[in-house]
Order: sequence, then C-alpha cells, then structure tokens
Amino acid sequence: MWTFLKIIRLNRATVRSLNPLPRGWTVVLRRSCSSASSESRVTNPSILRHLTSKITATGAITVAEYMREVLTNPVSGYYVKNDMLGADGDFITSPEISQIFGELVGIWCVSEWVASGKPKVLQLVELGPGRGSLIGDILRVFHQLQSVLHGAEVSVHLVEVSPKLSQLQAQCLAGEYTCGGEDELVYRTGTTHTGLPIYWYRSVKDVPRGFSIFLAHEFFDALPIHKFQEDEKRQHLEISPEGGVIVQKLASQIAEDGGAALIADYGHDGTKMDTFRGFRGHKLHDVLEAPGTADLTADVDFSYLRRMAGDAVVCMGPITQRAFLKNMGIDARLQVLLRSCHDATTRAQLIHGCDMLTSPEKMGSRFQFFSLLAPSRLTQPWEEGEGLGRRRRGPAPLPVAGFSELGL
Ligand code: SAH
Repeated sequence: MWTFLKIIRLNRATVRSLNPLPRGWTVVLRRSCSSASSESRVTNPSILRHLTSKITATGAITVAEYMREVLTNPVSGYYVKNDMLGADGDFITSPEISQIFGELVGIWCVSEWVASGKPKVLQLVELGPGRGSLIGDILRVFHQLQSVLHGAEVSVHLVEVSPKLSQLQAQCLAGEYTCGGEDELVYRTGTTHTGLPIYWYRSVKDVPRGFSIFLAHEFFDALPIHKFQEDEKRQHLEISPEGGVIVQKLASQIAEDGGAALIADYGHDGTKMDTFRGFRGHKLHDVLEAPGTADLTADVDFSYLRRMAGDAVVCMGPITQRAFLKNMGIDARLQVLLRSCHDATTRAQLIHGCDMLTSPEKMGSRFQFFSLLAPSRLTQPWEEGEGLGRRRRGPAPLPVAGFSELGL
C-alpha cells in the first residue's frame, strides 16, 4: 500500500493557523534563524496565505499539489511572476551558459529532419523555453542552414505557462507579435526575427498536429511530483503523472505524424530516491521555507518516462550531457569560434562555458539527454512483397546524432 508523505515543516505562524492540525499530519516546528524583517522580505505572502487557508479548509495537500501551487499558481506562482534564470537569478541553465549548446541542439534538429526524409512541414516545439535563449540559438542555426532547409515550412511553437517569461521570449525572439485573449489556446502570435511564424500555448495538447521536433530543457524537473513510500527497494518514489501524460502525448504524436523529442534534464534511470529540493540564489533552499521565492525541482526519472512513452516510439538514452555534446562536435565548434575571436575575455568565456557544460564534475555528468523517435526513423524500409527473397530498399538509416557521433 502506498502512502503519501505527510511530514511538513512550517513556521510558527502557519502552524498556529492550522490549529487543530489536519488528521495524519506530522508538523515539525522549525527553529527560526531569521529575524522578523528578513522573514517578511523572503516570504511570498499571497502563496503562503493561499496555502494555509486551503489546508485549513480542505485538509492536507500532497507534495504534487504543493509544488504546483508554489510554481505555477496563476496569480502568484514562482514561474508566473519571476525571471529566475541567469547569474542574478536562482539558477543558471546550459543554454544561458553558452551559445554553443543551442547551436548543437539546432544541428540535432536539422539532422533529425534530414534523416526523417525532409518532410515539408517542420514544427519546432519547445516546452518551457525560459528566456528563449535555446530557441534563439536554434533559429540562428536554421537561418544559417537555409540551403539545407530549403523548401521546408518551418514554424515555431512555444509552450509556456508564465506570462512574465513568455513576454521575455517574445521580446527576444519576435520582431512583432500580438496577444490573444485570456481564454484563447494560442495566447500570443508573431513573426521571428528570421521571418518564421511563432505561437505561444499554455499546454502541449494545444500544439497543432504534424511533423514536430519537440525540445524540453529543464522542463520535466519543474513538473509536480507525488512522493510515495512503499515496500520496494527504494524508500522514496517520486512520480510525476503530469510528466507521464506529456510524454504520452509526445509519443503518440511522433508515432502518428513523425518527428522526434529531445529531453534534457538532470535525472536518473529509476535509481534515486529523495531528490525534491529548492534553489534560491544558486544555493540549496528548504522546499517548505518561504514558498514562492525559490525554485522547486525533482530529478527526472527517465525509466518512468520510457515506460510512459510505450512501444509506439523508440527511446534513446539517457546519456550524459558530456557524451551528447562531444558526439555533436562541441570541441570542433569551440575551435571554430576561437579561431574567429581575438578578444581575450570572450575567448576565456567560450572556454569556460564549454568546460561548465561538459566537465563531469560540473554539468557534464549530472545532466542527461533522452530522445523519442518514430520507429520508421531507424528501420530500413523493405521492398514490396513477402518471403525470404525480399530485400531492404534504400540506404541504411542515418545514425542518431548525439547518441552516436554526428554523421551529417
Ligand atoms: N528551458 C529553459 C527554462 C527552464 S525553467 C532553460 O533551460 O533555460 C522551466 C521553464 O518551464 C520555465 O519557462 C517555466 O515557466 C516553464 N514551465 C514550468 N512549468 C510549466 C508548465 N506546467 N507548463 C508550461 N511551462 C512550464
């Protein structure tokens, strides 16, 4: 029998407002080590008030509900209100560290499109684009590879729940854009600086059907998890049903319309236990302290995503970020950039950025790459007819870039 973890630590004021305590709760009072003024500075009062009145009115909430409210509550959620990325924010991500990251992912997209037989329609879909840096670098690559992409109808689709971040994305990516109404599935449309149509949605289920390359970088780790205790080998299990549903949607679309998904995140293959944590100002932060002022995250369980994807698609990985970027030619790309760069500071930044991305002690081992592909992508088609005399038709499929050495 699975039981929800019910241990929760709250400050004294919150506990007072929870009197009597919901049945079955364990509340551990935390010794306050901050002064009254610094506490009020860090606490997001509306989230805390909302959570305490909800718990008082309807009882204990699950970890998943806590995470969802804190991160994406439409009025005062952490993602909804903040730009949390970068050196001045709470955490920094690979696309923010070096342009090379996005360039190599851009080459991966083009490579998969070529290997899929260059379909006429190419939808580039990113889930949780943050500041838009990754897609911006990819669009630059697409522009440079116009001769390869010649004839393809490329469009850009961003799935973003945060009004604040989607506005930053529009400013960064679109020459012009218009906003739709609150209730519209497409809540913003525009044209990228390179002349491509671009659309914003709140949910991936609203993205149109068609051949699509889906990208999700540090997206799945932000989705709410349930925590369970049960009699298996691991003492904690963390499961994100929302993540599972999204992967099922990607898998069924890829199986039916063609395409691929590239999911990059910190994670494990069904081995880790308690990974739920907070980040604030680049430091670990108690998940229950000052809700709404820190990022909440849990490692992605890729074995669970693989199970949810099912048999209709082929899964590749997870492999380390280091292996993926090395296979994509990060060393050669760095040398090209260094050859044309004579400013000592910029050269040092380029070298430092690549080291951050690939070094096993930094982001190289902790971050993993995982992919979903249409089965047809990896099979060599048979000639018409049946029986032993039948031969393979056409050339052998191209290897999948990143998961083996790039062969463009
Ligand atoms: N991919 C970016 C940003 C990662 S932060 C990067 O690597 O730099 C997580 C992103 O996912 C943010 O843009 C956040 O607003 C978005 N996000 C979080 N939960 C979401 C949800 N349920 N639906 C859509 N977007 C979500």
